[in-house]
Formats: sequence, C-alpha cells, structure tokens
Amino acid sequence: MNKREGKVLIAGGGPSGASLAIRLASAGRDVVLIERDRFPRHKLCGEFISPECFGHFAELGVLESMLSAGGERITETLFFPLSGLTVRIPGRAFGEPALGLSRSAMDAILLDRAKAVGVEVIEGAALASAAVEQGKLRAVDVRTADGTRNIAADVFIDATGRGKALVKAFQRAAGTGNERPARRSNGFVAFKAHLRGANLAAGRCEIHFFPDGYGGINRVEGGAVNHCFLVRSEAVRDVGGGVDNVLERLVFKNESARKALEGSHPEMDWMAVSFEGFGRAELSYGNRLFTVGDAASFIDPFTGSGMLIALESTAVLAEALASADDHSNVYASLYSRRFRRRLFVCSLLRNAAFRTRTATFVSAALGGLPFAAEALARLTRPQASPAR
Ligand SMILES: Cc1cc2nc3c(=O)[nH]c(=O)nc-3n(C[C@H](O)[C@H](O)[C@H](O)COP(=O)(O)OP(=O)(O)OC[C@H]3O[C@@H](n4cnc5c(N)ncnc54)[C@H](O)[C@@H]3O)c2cc1C
Repeated sequence: MNKREGKVLIAGGGPSGASLAIRLASAGRDVVLIERDRFPRHKLCGEFISPECFGHFAELGVLESMLSAGGERITETLFFPLSGLTVRIPGRAFGEPALGLSRSAMDAILLDRAKAVGVEVIEGAALASAAVEQGKLRAVDVRTADGTRNIAADVFIDATGRGKALVKAFQRAAGTGNERPARRSNGFVAFKAHLRGANLAAGRCEIHFFPDGYGGINRVEGGAVNHCFLVRSEAVRDVGGGVDNVLERLVFKNESARKALEGSHPEMDWMAVSFEGFGRAELSYGNRLFTVGDAASFIDPFTGSGMLIALESTAVLAEALASADDHSNVYASLYSRRFRRRLFVCSLLRNAAFRTRTATFVSAALGGLPFAAEALARLTRPQASPAR
C-alpha cells in the first residue's frame, strides 16, 4: 500500500480507529482520523485488557508504553454467580496475566502513536454530514472549534463504536437509512466509575452476577478500582432513583459484590450509557465504507475481549485493504473465519448469564471442574494461531 492508493478517512479514535490508523499509516497510506472527544478522556469500559492484546500492541509499537503506564497485572478472574459455586479462571488460561489500565491512558497512548507515525488526527471533531455521489460516500463535513471542514477520501472507516455515526451519516445522505424504532424494553444501561476503598485482593478481577445484570471490578493505575456494570434498562427503570439505588437494590443482591464494594466511594462522577444489544453488524457498504471494532460487532463485555476484537478486526481489515481482490469480500471472509465461533460462544454464555437458574447450574458444573472452566473461557478467544 502507498499514498497513491488514495486517502483513508477514519471516524473514531478508540482502540479500533487508532490501531487501524497506525497499521495503514505505517504501511505508507495517507490517513486522516477524526475523533469527537479530546484525549485523554475517560471512557465507559471494564478496563480489563486481555493478554492476547499484547501481541497487537507490539505490532503497533506501543507495548512498552502500555506495560509501563502504571496499570495492574491481573493474575486471576473470579466469577461470582448470584448463588452457586465461584468459578475461577487463572491467568495461565490465556498465557500470561492481563492488564488493568484506564481507557484514559490506553486510548491516549494509541492515539499519540498514530500521530507519531504520520496520521493527521483531528480531535474535538464532530461529524456533521456526508456527501454521497452515485450511491458512494465521497466526503464528510466535520465541525471543529475552527469551523467546518470538508474532507474527501477514497476509503472511509466507521470506528465510532456501537453508535456507527459514519454509517448513519452515509445512510442519511444516500436516503437508505433503515432506522428501526428503539427497542427500549430490550436495552441495557452500563455504569462505570473509579473507586477508592474497595475490598479487592491484588491481581484479581471479580465478575458479579445479579438480577438483570452483571459487573466487574479490577484495579487500574494509581491504585483505583474500576467498577463497571450493566443492567437491563427495564430493571433500572423499575428500581428508579440514581446509581446508588441501582447498586443497593440490584448489584448488592450478590453478597460478594456487597463485600467487595460496600464502603467504597467513587473518585469521579459515575458515567452511564445505554445501548440496545450485542452481535454482528454490516462489515461494509460497497467498496468504500467499512466498519471495524464495535461498529462491526459488539461482544459481551464479561468476556473481557471487546478491545482484543477491536485490535484484531483492524489487523484483518488492513489485510483486506492491502489485497488485490475485492476488499469487501476479502474482509467478510477473513472476519467470519476469525470471529464466527467466538461470537457464537459469547452469545450462548450471555444467554446463560442472564438466566439466574442457568447461571447457577453452569457455575455449579464449572466450579467443580476448573479445567472445563478454562477450556470454555478459551473458546471466547482466538485459537492458538498467531495474532495475524
Ligand atoms: C460495560 C462495558 C464494559 C466493557 N468492558 C470491557 C473490558 O473490560 N475489556 C474489553 O476488552 N472490552 C470491554 N468492553 C468492550 C470495549 O469497550 C469495546 O469493545 C471497545 O471500546 C471497542 O473499541 P472501538 O474503538 O471499536 O470503539 P470505542 O472504544 O467506542 O471508540 C469509538 C470512538 O469513536 C468516537 N466517536 C463516536 N462518535 C463519533 C463521531 N460522530 N465522530 C467522531 N468520533 C466519534 C468516540 O469518542 C470514541 O473515542 C466493554 C464494553 C462495555 C459496554
């Protein structure tokens, strides 16, 4: 790939947008990245970086920066169902300990690297509209503090996460938007804050299941404990009140969560986002607009592998864009080969997690069979083949 192959515009500077930008610019491509926020900024996430990400970090030239940013190495994950046995997954199941590091730090490291390899990064840039000619996306209008800028490109990437802002702008401009009414009753609300005073052993990640949701805690840099949990929207509406009410009336129904978190206090305002669900989306719209990361597939957070899929999907897309064949066909086939099984296993686990009796049964079975628990956890991860 080289600059003659045309300009790439990436919308979104999270792990997928920034890592794709690094890969493409390092291969000689002309890349501009627009990001709505200004970094560093907090981001709602469990902040559990699975160790399979490290190979990608090394390829991207950020491994040392990630490992020396003060995060905590996580050597075991404990799953606490509402009742039943605790399931323990040791770090060895994935080769080496995971990393607890804030998204504020991680995302900034990746975006700084993108700038260093020559990506034009425009922060504080709101995507205003898209220009479409003959059904093809040609340019976007971006609003910044300095005014509106029109950016034309040959290839466009939507890396804006679950919101798929670029796809939606394209569909509005093309008149092909297929907006479905929001299915409010099926949605989720996720919450996150960094806490002080939590009761959590060093090197441990705990996942607590409670009625209509689950959450996780692990340490990040500076000794804070990140608490991130998600709840069905209906349950949040039913209990009413603020996050303290949700904690008291839902999360703390799990006694292990109460033990770990009662008496802790947030050191930042709680963040909250709502979203509709999980699963696969369209990977491409013709040969000019592609989705990546959460915009392409949103995997269940308790598997702790959303960021891994974000990084892996950019490796797959970079390979497809370098191919001499039809990029969208190559991307679809590489993507399916790599992720289909994992997405399926995660959907089965999610269904079990949200059914209290099934979760209790599964935990009773796995709690007594540690190797089965490790084997199941590995099915949510890439097979032994190298990252790329
Ligand atoms: C509750 C919860 C907990 C999770 N916990 C974990 C975990 O512990 N470990 C893990 O690996 N994964 C976890 N995930 C998943 C992980 O957060 C995502 O998979 C990952 O962030 C996807 O990266 P991305 O770059 O595709 O999207 P994002 O991280 O969402 O990045 C998208 C970027 O696009 C920008 N953007 C949005 N709209 C626009 C616009 N209009 N114009 C320009 N820029 C825009 C945003 O500001 C953002 O920076 C969790 C997810 C949830 C919901």
